[in-house]
Amino acid sequence: MIFNEAQQEIANKIQEDNNISNWEDWKWQLKHAIKSLEQFEKLTGIRFEGQERDDLHKTFDKFPLSITPYYLSLINTKNFRYDPVFKQAFGGVEELITTSSELADPLSEDTDSPVEGITHRYPDRVLFHVSNICSMYCRHCTRKRKVGDVDYVPSKDQLSKGIDYIRKTPQVRDVLLSGGDPFMLPDQMIDWLLSEVSSIPHVEVIRIGTRMPVVLPYRITDDLITILKKYQPLWINTHFNHPKEITTSSKAAVAKLADGGFPLGNQSVLLADVNDCPRIMKSLVHKLVQNRIRPYYLYQCDLSEGLSHFRTPIGKGIEIMESLIGHTSGFARPTYVIDAPGGGGKIPVMPNYIISWSTNKVVLRNYEGVITTYQEPDSYEPRMCDRDCDKCNMELELGEGDESDAIGIEKLLLDANDTISLIPENNERLHRRDQHE
Ligand SMILES: *Cc1c(COP(=O)(O)O)cnc(C)c1O
Ligand code: SF4
Repeated sequence: MIFNEAQQEIANKIQEDNNISNWEDWKWQLKHAIKSLEQFEKLTGIRFEGQERDDLHKTFDKFPLSITPYYLSLINTKNFRYDPVFKQAFGGVEELITTSSELADPLSEDTDSPVEGITHRYPDRVLFHVSNICSMYCRHCTRKRKVGDVDYVPSKDQLSKGIDYIRKTPQVRDVLLSGGDPFMLPDQMIDWLLSEVSSIPHVEVIRIGTRMPVVLPYRITDDLITILKKYQPLWINTHFNHPKEITTSSKAAVAKLADGGFPLGNQSVLLADVNDCPRIMKSLVHKLVQNRIRPYYLYQCDLSEGLSHFRTPIGKGIEIMESLIGHTSGFARPTYVIDAPGGGGKIPVMPNYIISWSTNKVVLRNYEGVITTYQEPDSYEPRMCDRDCDKCNMELELGEGDESDAIGIEKLLLDANDTISLIPENNERLHRRDQHE
């Protein structure tokens, strides 16, 4: 392994013995994670003064600091205030600002939690928080108020509550392990957890969301891969936000995962002054696909406390999607989503491509601005569907368990359902009607 100068220098300052042989040991990296302003200053040579220094102390009292030596080594100390790694890892005093629209739990993950650790929001899948800690605390973390608040790894007993919930909830076919970072758990614990979850008959796939390939790539050890391989199909999503994060070390970690046979996805967060630029995003998605990672989601920054300086208008995300769709490979573009405050889930957003309709034509535009028409078929016979699939002559071969009732907009589109509208609770107009009767 060739180490760069920044890594040499940081390792020397940490150990004071000119020995960098531990650099790739993930436990060494964790043990020496930078958790205070003073440590940061010592290792980077950067110094903060006066009011800013006082406010930074307040900031880190409120939201803990943790940076792995590896991720720290990516910071350009000469121009740190504009550095995307610095902004994500160290942040700044802006985090003390709270605006009235910000919430500690903007996605109502706690409210939608049937048991400790589980958020059950969608019909067929759950989010399972299996750790409360991360090797690097992202300054833009949605779960900022919680993650790292109390540094703890849940015990088997605590995790068992979540596992029991999944076991007795047959609709759950997809379990998303998240946190914190699930790879903060010791190997044996990961092995145990995956064996428990994968032994549940109705669980078809497991996913793991981790930022380790980005902030502590040495965590992806051969031993870990050996464990994970036992639990296919296992999908792994990581969190690269900037092309700068794709380094020799992170590429090696990602290659191990891809060679292990795990489909890899990436979830980026759109962050002001970090990646809110179509060229940066295009460069990022190209590097991701070169490393066998499929861009999955681009998230609009949530309304979490202390994130206002990271938020961009939604228009910025649409502009970025405009510059990706058509301009580059379809599999290189993520879906841009807004996680609805209050727990409504992820809402995809895109530029508009449909310009107009008539009964026989649709007018569309492409990425170049060319306006085109699509002729609708003359002879399409709509099939009346009453959802009585056994009597239907389409050979659907529907397996068991796929008989969930239609909900939401899907229900409005169904022939066999006479719902005409979806009406918000406490609609005043209907209230008045009730009073007339
Ligand atoms: C994001 C999320 C999921 C997974 O959503 P997908 O769109 O299937 O990736 C599941 N549960 C919760 C609470 C989530 O926030
Ligand atoms: S890795 Fe994820 S959970 Fe951990 S601090 Fe970053 S965004 Fe939050």
